This record gives sequence, C-alpha cells and structure tokens, in this order.
Amino acid sequence: MNANYPTNSRKVLFIIYYLLFIISAQTVAQTRIVSPDGLTYADVRMDDGKLSYSAGYRKVVKKDTVDVRMIEDSPLGLYTNVADFSRHLTLKGTEAKRIHNDYRLWQSKQSHVVNDYEQRRFTLTTPQGKTFVVDFRVGNNNIAYRYDIPIQGETMAIVVTGEASGFRMPKGTTTFLCPQCNSMSGWKRTKPSYEEEYTPDAPMGTPSRYRQGYTFPCLFHEGDKGWALISETGLDSRYCGSHLSDCSADGTYRIAFPMEGENNGIGSTSAQFGLPGSTPWRTITFGSTLKPIVETTLPWDVVEQLYEPSFKYKGGRSSWSWIIWQDASINYNDQVSFINLASDLGWEYCLIDGGWETNIGRERMEKLFDLCKEKGIAPFVWYNSNGGWNDAPQCARHRMDNPVVRKKEMRWLHEHGVKGIKVDFFAGDKQETIKLYEQILSDANDYDLQVIFHGCTIPRGWERMYPNYVSSEAVLASENLVFSQHFDDMEGFNATLHPFCRNSIGSMEFGGTVLQQRLNRGNNGGTTRRVSDVFELGTAIAFQSSVQNFALTPMNLDEKVTPKFEIDFMRQVPTLWDETCFIDGYPGKYIVLARRSGDRWYVCALNAQKQTLDLNLTLPMLAGKQVTWLSDGADGKSPSAQPFTLDKRGTFRASIPAECGVVLY
Ligand code: CA
Repeated sequence: MNANYPTNSRKVLFIIYYLLFIISAQTVAQTRIVSPDGLTYADVRMDDGKLSYSAGYRKVVKKDTVDVRMIEDSPLGLYTNVADFSRHLTLKGTEAKRIHNDYRLWQSKQSHVVNDYEQRRFTLTTPQGKTFVVDFRVGNNNIAYRYDIPIQGETMAIVVTGEASGFRMPKGTTTFLCPQCNSMSGWKRTKPSYEEEYTPDAPMGTPSRYRQGYTFPCLFHEGDKGWALISETGLDSRYCGSHLSDCSADGTYRIAFPMEGENNGIGSTSAQFGLPGSTPWRTITFGSTLKPIVETTLPWDVVEQLYEPSFKYKGGRSSWSWIIWQDASINYNDQVSFINLASDLGWEYCLIDGGWETNIGRERMEKLFDLCKEKGIAPFVWYNSNGGWNDAPQCARHRMDNPVVRKKEMRWLHEHGVKGIKVDFFAGDKQETIKLYEQILSDANDYDLQVIFHGCTIPRGWERMYPNYVSSEAVLASENLVFSQHFDDMEGFNATLHPFCRNSIGSMEFGGTVLQQRLNRGNNGGTTRRVSDVFELGTAIAFQSSVQNFALTPMNLDEKVTPKFEIDFMRQVPTLWDETCFIDGYPGKYIVLARRSGDRWYVCALNAQKQTLDLNLTLPMLAGKQVTWLSDGADGKSPSAQPFTLDKRGTFRASIPAECGVVLY
C-alpha cells in the first residue's frame, strides 16, 4: 500500500488536472466577429460565467496581417430586478446574420446610407434559468452592442438598475472628454445640459471635474494605433440616457446611469420597460485615422424610424434675433426686423425666442405669423419645457410638460402656419425626461412641427427615429460667445473639436456664423470675436444641423460692416448635405471638411491654432473644377473672394493665418 501511494496519488492528480482542463475548455469560449471588409473585429469571450469583449482592426505589416487592439477585454452584462445578468452565466447558443442597410437620412451628414453589418446574437442564461441576449453588430470601423430581454416565464416587466458594460482603453491612451456636472446646478438649476468644456489630450485616469464621469460622446487617442469614439444610440422613452463613469485603475470606463438629483429629484435613476424589450446601443467607432470618426453613420445604422412623418419636413436657414440682440429683442418691432432679414437673405425660417408670451402677446404673435406668411418665411417658436424641474423663468412656460395643454398649443401654432418649435431647459437624462422628449416629438409630428431642443441632452439616433427632429444644443453653443469673453477666446478650439465628437454623433444646434466684430446690438461693446470672417463662414459648413439658426443681424446687410461676398455666401449656403468627407485635421487644432449638397461641394478649412497652418491637400471632389476661394488675406484681416481652378489632381495649397479659415465652393 505504502509503496503504491505516490503512484496512485499521481494518478489522482492527473485525473483532477484532466477534469479541470475539460471544465475550463468548456467555460472559456471565444467568438470572433469580423466586419464585411474583413478589417474590423470584435472578440466576444465567455470565461468563468462572465461575458466580455475586446475589439480592434487588422492591418497588413510586411505581408503579415496583425491585430491592432483598440478596446481591451471589457465587461458585458446588466443588473436587473429579474436577475443579475453579469455573472454565473451559461452560453446557450449563438446566431449569425449579415444585415444590409439602405436608408435615407435627409437631416444629417449623409442623405443615402448603404452599408453592411455582421450580426451575432449570444443567448445566455443564469443559474435560475433567466435568459437574455447580447446583440453585437460589427461594421467597417463600427461596433455596436445591446441587450435584449425576452419574457421570463410570467415576468413581463423589468427594471434595469445598472450595466456592467465597460470600455477598457489601452495604456497610454489620451482623452478628449467632457465632464458630467452635478444635478440641479448652474443657471436657475438647469443643469446637467451637456454644456461643460472638453479637455483635449488629457492623460487617462485623471478624475473627472465633478467626479460624475463624462458625457457622450467620448473621444480617445490611442497614440500610433489610432482613434476611438464611444457613445450611445437608439435611446427612446423606454430607457434612461447614460454616460461614462470615471476611469478605474485598469483603464475601464463603465456605463453610468443618471444622478439621483436630476429632474428635481423626481423619477428613478433606473430604467423600466416591458418584455420583450431592449437597452439602447453602446457604440464604438475606431480606426487608424480620424476619417471614420468624422464620417461614421453608426448612430443611425442600428436604429429604426419610429413613426411616419406627417408632413414633408424641410431644412433651411433661419434668422434669430436673440443670439446677438438678446432678451431685449423679444418685442414686436425687432421680430419684424428679423423676419425681414430672413426674407432679404432668401432664407426659409425665423426663430422667435423666449419671452414672447408676455413681451409680444398671443394676438400680436398671430400678426407676426401673418407677416411671415406674406414674406414666405416659416416661423419657429420657443418654449420652456417646464414643468417643475428647474427655475428657468422664460415664457412660454407650462405649455410643453402636459399633453392636454401641449396639444392645444400645437394646434394653435399649426393653425397659424408655424413650422417648428424650439424647446429649452430640460431636466437631465432620467427616463422620466427622455419620455418627455419623445412625447413632444410625437405630438409635434401630429401638427406638422419640427423640433429643436435646447438646454438638453444629446440626440441618440433621433434624426432617423423621429422624422420631425432637427437638432439639439447639448454643446457650449454660440450664446456663450455673448455671455463671456472666455468662449470667444476658445471659439476656434471648440469649432475644430466638435466635428470629431459632438457633431459626429448627431445634429448640433450651435447657432453660429457671427459676422459682427463685437457681440452686442451696436457692434460697439460686449465680447470680441477672435476668429476671422472666413472662419465664421466656414462653420456654416463645419457645423451640421438641418435648420441652422445663424447669428447674422440686420447690420450685416450694410456693406460697411460686412463685405458683400460674405453675405452672398450666406444667401446660398445649404443646410442639408448628401455626403460628408473628412480631409485633414486634429481635434481642437484644425479641420478640413468637405460636404456635398446636390452636385456642389463645399470645403472649409478652419485653423484654431495661434500660428499659421500650411496645407498641402488633394481634393479629388474639386479636381479640375473652378470654384470660389474665400480667404482672410495674409494678415488675416483682409477677407476676399477669388475665382480659382484646381488642377486635374485637385491639388490645393494654402497658408491659413492663426484663427482664420478658407472656404472653397
Ligand atoms: Ca444653453
């Protein structure tokens, strides 16, 4: 016995090791999903009852194909009142499918989108037999995933209290992030409203300014590997808006839910929906260059239109008195001036901003609507979303928060030819507030009204989901240029940052193109514009919103204030784009962007830097064409328009002075 013991013990150990090997072979499983072009991949991994993923792209180095990993192994799963769908999971099966997209997107960066995604659905169960599905879509440079929850026996409703979903970024990554602020903070307790400042090229792991994480979209620079943009899409009334947590020690940012104090403390921070149901999509766009970041259509590729448009909605240009003339301009006579301005410029719309109910009154508003009709201009009218969630005093209040009053109000607008509303001062990202966005959009569609949101959250696929949706502020927009010199000093930085992040994931209601030198009514006081005239004209191309509320005032029609060629440009600049093409740039430093409207290309080059930018570009879309070249002159202060013919290759060389721009059209 004794003599045999060691041999037996070795046998036993061997059997134990063998069994452990079998068990681990069963519990660790990895599936690679590869994009239609074979270059983008996601590896979904099942290990010890937990599901995770990593992702990257493949590139050829000396005839060998190598993986460039952009997202390190990151957690998946969610926490609910039905089950903990984040651990002790068993993989029951996977399904694969190719999804072909071919759709129209009239109010964004590309009017006709055709692409393909590889779909993989992973069905998982908990030890208690509760089931959920992780749906992955992998397109060229784009990855999205969400969770589908089927009916669980007799359980037909679920509360999601949080997600395990994370994004682990490689060491050495630098960040372009915008902090989430505290709830019920800022002016009249109106925050959060996505109006904090992005910090460029910050090292990963720096605590966020308010320790509340970061709002979408989040841009990451992974050194030589490239760039990644993380956001969310497909959010409707059945979920809350999410953001990213602060970064953990291992470089993981997680999906974070709204703060308890949002919406004046009313409404849950969780999400509740009926079964079967789904979460919104978590989205990642990445690549070796910034091109896929700027051009992505991922926010719209994975969502669907939620209702038919009641009306053939149109984009266009709009005058907007409030942006430079401010509250004092919300009176009858000034509004007449801005209706005339829109008419003189051949624009489609005018926006009558907050305060009209007391300062103008309903009867005289109807007279303004009649004047608009006479002039062929369609009005947009401003509303306060309140309600009981902040102290914003502007009227009209209590018209948009209640369906009975809201529909009556919308009927009045419709009867008087109003074509849009701008609704301001929302209450954050709780599901309670997301419901209000959807109710306003859906009701507005019944009255042929388009909708712009202000003081609000970012859109998440809404251009496709809601056909009467125009755009959202959710950015430190042009009003800040009036409020504080700091934002004029930062205007170049912000204008060259947004095409890479905020404006890439959705339409941006910036209200730009300031052509006065000083930002007050007389052009003789207030803050001072730093960027040049042609830079400002270029933002009309760089900033995308299907209706643009431009910051021009009647004074700009005076040739002593604004050169005629600048106004000629503003008379014809489109707001609807068929195609968008990234040429060159670096977030916050400069951007060269080309957009096509019909058969005409518009190219802008904006230099935010304090030194001259020398460009040596190839613009194939303008090859051999004669265009108008707008520039600020060598001193940056002598704007002019010149005819210019590009050679057969589309070569374009220019020196752009500090905080100046170039426009070709
Ligand atoms: Ca605002």
